[in-house]
Amino acid sequence: MKTAEHGAMVIIGAGQCGARTAQALRENGWEGEVTLLGNEGIAPYDRPPLSKAVLLGQKSAAQCALYDDAFYRDNRIDLRVDAPVTAIDRVERRVVLGEGRTVSYRRLLIATGAQPRSLPVPGATLAGVHVLRSVPDALSIVDELQPGRRIAVVGAGFIGLEVAASAIARGCEVVVIEVAARALMRAVPEIVAGYLIERHRQMGVEVRFATQVDRILGDSRVSGLKLADGTTLQCDAVIVGIGVTPRTALAEAAGIDVADGIAVDDTLRTNDPYIFAAGDVCSFPHRLFRRRIRLECWKNAEDHARLVARNMLEYGETYSAVPRFWSDQYDMTIQIAGLPAFGATSVVRETGSASKVFFALDGDGVLVGASGVGQTGEIAREVRIAQELIARRARVEPDVLADRSTKLKSLLTAEAL
Ligand code: NAP
Repeated sequence: MKTAEHGAMVIIGAGQCGARTAQALRENGWEGEVTLLGNEGIAPYDRPPLSKAVLLGQKSAAQCALYDDAFYRDNRIDLRVDAPVTAIDRVERRVVLGEGRTVSYRRLLIATGAQPRSLPVPGATLAGVHVLRSVPDALSIVDELQPGRRIAVVGAGFIGLEVAASAIARGCEVVVIEVAARALMRAVPEIVAGYLIERHRQMGVEVRFATQVDRILGDSRVSGLKLADGTTLQCDAVIVGIGVTPRTALAEAAGIDVADGIAVDDTLRTNDPYIFAAGDVCSFPHRLFRRRIRLECWKNAEDHARLVARNMLEYGETYSAVPRFWSDQYDMTIQIAGLPAFGATSVVRETGSASKVFFALDGDGVLVGASGVGQTGEIAREVRIAQELIARRARVEPDVLADRSTKLKSLLTAEAL
């Protein structure tokens, strides 16, 4: 077993969280080696544009890159984009790459993210069936979105609904199939999802809830879907957005604790003091919600990266950032602060002619979530202030939240627990 402190800061996973951590290590004064190991074959990039601007042809894959080559050179970040890690050797504190090559670590970060779930039905590997997570996925889907083609989207989550909006804008016909009784079941209250679905239907999207795909039809290429309710739908391509699974295999094989993702403490450290995990791949105890959670979103990857870099440098800080999500579909935005799903009661505030914010209060009357839907300018301020109230675990009277004439800002003085 090694005892001396030596070796590089090594990051497995050259995605947004991994790359931002490398940057934050430098910003926090780390002058030793930083090694960023990826296996996608391209430099780290931003994923949010993939389902929107890239599908709409407004942004190229190259424009999604997080940094240019000079950034890695100037910051002495050893970025290796074709370096799949095959094992973590915790005794010798090194990671094993292909052909027996190894990299010793002083501290290791696992930021391997999550992989899209594939549809477990016959026909799922036919040509024309896609998931959307990576740049190559997005470029394959762009080719499918030709005007007049019929696109089946499986899953009415964030990916499914953003892809549906992009496909409509490209002149496609779109049908969305969702197994649950409504969209975005885990992310937003039913009424918020209802507004979005109404807008999709106005734009011509056919949405089918409470059914699922039994089989994907076609010989070498997809030609249709057979649904569980017996319906057969013709389609030219299928985009599957039915959620993701954290990539924990390396950690599990190394004996690191896993509990819905790699289990870390509130400093993002695993049960091995030299190894951290951050981003989509880890579950962590959250002080504000008083339970272990795992978040799959852009802002969490950013917030985790900033904190974990400091903790790899032994600052020992705890994580308590308020989750934030957003999604743009057509001319509508949804913005979410906190975790509305943890609310026991919901209060609505009309913030504009077609904009509303729904507040979620837990059983003790503590604000735990806010979801705005409508025009950005009519909800952004309210959701931002709600974020601050959630950070303070503020207890707010429902009547006050509902009353549009009460400035939310004045509630920032509300009693915190
Ligand atoms: P998601 O948001 O978890 O939604 C997946 C949806 O598919 C859920 O509604 C799920 O229902 C449904 N589903 C599951 N199995 C199904 C089946 N066999 N047939 C039909 N529907 C099925 O996941 P996602 O849309 O795939 O997105 C992947 C990840 O990227 C998520 O972590 C998401 O947060 C992230 N993302 C975020 C944004 C954003 O924040 N704007 C945009 C794109 C992607 P149940 O809930 O009942 O399982």
